[in-house]
Parts: sequence; C-alpha cells; structure tokens
Amino acid sequence: TNIQVAIDGPASAGKSTIAKIIAKNLSYIYVDTGAMYRTITLAAINAGLINLDGDASEISDVAIQQLLQATQITFKPSDDGQLVFLNEQDVSEEIRQSHVNNLVSLIAAIPTVRRDLVERQRIIANENNVIMDGRDIGTTVLPHAAVKIFLVASVAERAQRRYRENQLKGIDTKITLAEIEASIERRDYLDSHREVSPLTQASDAILVDTTGVTINDVVNEITTIINN
Ligand code: C5P
Repeated sequence: TNIQVAIDGPASAGKSTIAKIIAKNLSYIYVDTGAMYRTITLAAINAGLINLDGDASEISDVAIQQLLQATQITFKPSDDGQLVFLNEQDVSEEIRQSHVNNLVSLIAAIPTVRRDLVERQRIIANENNVIMDGRDIGTTVLPHAAVKIFLVASVAERAQRRYRENQLKGIDTKITLAEIEASIERRDYLDSHREVSPLTQASDAILVDTTGVTINDVVNEITTIINN
C-alpha cells in the first residue's frame, strides 16, 4: 500500500515549501490541495458565478456541479516545484493573486466543492506515495495517513514570509504587510469556522511550530518523523 503524509495548518505556515522539498527528497508525489481550491475559485470567477466582493451563498448547487464537472485540475512538474493547470490553461500565478485569496475560503466552504475535491485527492493518494498539504487532510481526506503534521507559526512571521515572497515573485507588490496579516487572519478565521471539515489539528497529528526555525531544520524534523 502507499505511504501517505498529511501536512495541515493555517495559511502561509510554510506547508507547501516544506512539502515540496520532502516530496523531492523521498520521491513522493506532492499534492497541493490549496491549489485545487484556488483553481476552482478562479473557474467560478471566470464563469461569473461569484463577483469580486462575492457572496458565495448565492451560487446554486447545480451551477457549482456543472463547474466542477467542466474543471480539470492538473499538476505538472517544473523547475521550481510544479505548475497548476485549469483545463489547458496555466494558472499557477493567477491562483496566488489577491482576488483569488479573498474568495477562496468562501468557495472552499461549499459542501459540494469539498466533496468533489476530496474525492479527487483520495484518488491521487490511492495511486501514489503522497505528501499532501491542506487544512483537512489529517482529519478528513486521509484519516489513516501514516504521518500527520500540524504546521504552525506566529501570524506576524507568516505575514512577513508571504510579504517577502510576494516582493520576490512580483505578486501583488503594492499590498502592505499589515494588509497581508489581516488577510491571513481572515482566511484562518473562515477556514476554522466553516461547517464542513474546518481547519483543526487531528488528534493524532504532531504539532510543529516553525516560528523562528529555518526551512532546513523543519525539513529535517519532519523527515525524521517520517523515517521512524
Ligand atoms: O493552502 P492555501 O493557502 O493555498 O489554501 C487556500 C485556501 O483553500 C484555504 O485558505 C482554504 O480556504 C482552502 N483549503 C481548504 N482545504 C484544504 C486546502 C485549502 O479549504 N485542504
């Protein structure tokens, strides 16, 4: 059977950075479930189902089901990790922009969306050794995962990391550190308070606090946990 590693935690805690490195080291498939929710959100925006100051409660379930059926999400390996495709379109950069950031937690709270994406995630995990990051992997998607990590860091440090990354990559460079901190806190609040599989630490997950810890040290700590 396949080996499953689940990494959950709040926004910008370093989940994807860490998971990508470990996946490469161990030759596992890295599954970025946040990218899947982001891609569906972008598809909903493109289809006009949600406007930018959107209220997701107005979206009909039929429309969401049609959207899910029409939306293929694929990951393709690239030099600096992986690219994300919405059908044939490379959306790797657009799904990180603020209009998607601001709406993704609303779309991710829709039960029909979660049911569909969780099924896609389980199919990947049944066919490969995976390291999967998200919010509900240890609690819901892969409750029998061999290793569960709950990755946290102070909100100040998470905002600073995201701010620096944005400046480096040229994404939303006009958004201030304070705005990023507020946006992270809002997303964490929404993700922790939704009705279906809210963000929460699984009872058998190991808590890893990355505040003030280097990427390398976190990678080593989690790799040691996996190897035991
Ligand atoms: O991980 P990332 O920050 O890219 O996730 C974006 C958003 O997708 C989260 O804020 C959350 O609303 C949603 N998400 C989720 N369940 C997951 C992964 C992400 O609800 N497993």
